[in-house]
Amino acid sequence: MTAKEFPDGDNGGHDWLKRLQGSALLRAVMRSAVLRNIALTVLWLGVWQLGLLVEYTEHASVWFPVAGLTFSVLLLDGLRSAPGLVAACVLITLWVGDHYQLPLSHAELVRAGLLWSVVHIGSYYAGARLLRTIAGRGSRELPMLVVSFLGIAALSSLLATVTGLWVLVATNMMPATDVAAAWLPYWIGDLAGVIVLAPFFAAALSTLNPQAAVRLGATFTLQNERPTPRFKYKLLLNLVLMFGSMWLAHVTRSPNSAFAIFFLVIPYMWIACTEPAFYNVLGVAVGSFVIALLVNVFGLKEFSMVYQFAINVIAANTLFGLALPTLIADNIKLRRVAEVDALTEAASRSSLERRARTDIARCRDAGEPLTLIVFDIDHFKQINDLYGHSMGDRALRQVSLLAQQCLRPADMLGRVGGDEFVALLPGITGEAALAIAERIRVHVHETELEGAPLMTASFGISQMHAGDSYGTIFERADRALYLAKQQGRNRAAVIAA
Ligand code: GH3
Ligand code: MG
Repeated sequence: MTAKEFPDGDNGGHDWLKRLQGSALLRAVMRSAVLRNIALTVLWLGVWQLGLLVEYTEHASVWFPVAGLTFSVLLLDGLRSAPGLVAACVLITLWVGDHYQLPLSHAELVRAGLLWSVVHIGSYYAGARLLRTIAGRGSRELPMLVVSFLGIAALSSLLATVTGLWVLVATNMMPATDVAAAWLPYWIGDLAGVIVLAPFFAAALSTLNPQAAVRLGATFTLQNERPTPRFKYKLLLNLVLMFGSMWLAHVTRSPNSAFAIFFLVIPYMWIACTEPAFYNVLGVAVGSFVIALLVNVFGLKEFSMVYQFAINVIAANTLFGLALPTLIADNIKLRRVAEVDALTEAASRSSLERRARTDIARCRDAGEPLTLIVFDIDHFKQINDLYGHSMGDRALRQVSLLAQQCLRPADMLGRVGGDEFVALLPGITGEAALAIAERIRVHVHETELEGAPLMTASFGISQMHAGDSYGTIFERADRALYLAKQQGRNRAAVIAA
């Protein structure tokens, strides 16, 4: 469901959300660029503290949640959100200098903060811009967006890592000798922040601010359907499994147990295939936070890379999982297009021939008969010429429907040409098929099509013999049809061999 299906402000029935969207304070904040940026700075600093809460050692956490917030606001609001982000980057650098007692003056910290804000915002702006361009080009299908988002998240977080480390070294906040050990955790932590939280923040913020420039978060908004009643139990199960596997790593201190966390992709995939998009994004955000927290609580620092990768793999996998139902639905639609004639809803020629081959083989093995009826509307051209093409279409639909009504579920009706149909009758002899053809003939002749004269159709029948293929049976039935036409139409003819 996309946001387009709901007018702005409507949210599919979440009352609390309606109240929040309608609140005077939120509207005032959203209307004023200054207030919006101040709110962003406050939110950003709050999310930073959230990251701090799950730090397993000084300055190091399994993920870096603010990267996700930065990416999402740049995606939704572009550089309009830059002032709020710059302020947040400078303030946090001052705080970090203070907190870790770095030997730098306030002026030096402000300079470092400004420099860092440029590379942090620049890296994620480049990524967000690229994603907006891709989304704007019409590649809005979820699978394509997910692949683009994951690739862009990896590249922009790598850029943020390289430039961020350069700033840390250039401003004397980090010794150059630390870079070799820091770059990978820095990158994977940022990547986790983006993959896990950017969709969540994009969804939440675009819901709070329906005027956001790009409704890219539409796929994830709270305006989606509600979760199933079992959602909370599924999430709880995931958290219990998460806790169990990490507790195991804590007790055994074995890397093998740490890797058990990767099994969580299975229950997360289950949620992805059964719950609306937003609740998946929410589930991944909660799960990632808990993983980061438990690394801290259980003292699993030595396995932190395993958990960093696990967060990324679970999040990426879940995003792909969200695309699965769309892909399956598209496949079903495509298969239907290939197998069913769109006008008459009879089987397409190719699917009839495929089914005929298996039925012929099966009936031959079982020693059962099989018969084909080929039939064609009489003087159909006249209907088109005298009553118009759309009346002709209606006539084709009606004949198809009437014929289907005379067949069993095991039979198959296919449209093989303009006004030519084939009924495939496994287990039916030529004699019995003659009675069926007669039923269809009478049904067609007696059923009125409003605004058109009564129609008739002619039928050719042939039963399968030893050594027959679909082609040879069809060819005989078609010859029989020709005979029926020659003998005056509105009748059936049989060619036995
Ligand atoms: P006959 O009794 O010998 O079968 O005569 P006929 O007029 O029915 O001749 P024929 O079966 O050759 O005519 C087929 C016509 O069906 C020609 C074509 O314009 C028309 N036709 C083919 N496909 C469609 C379609 O999808 N819709 C409509 N309305 N007409 C179609
Ligand atoms: Mg015809």
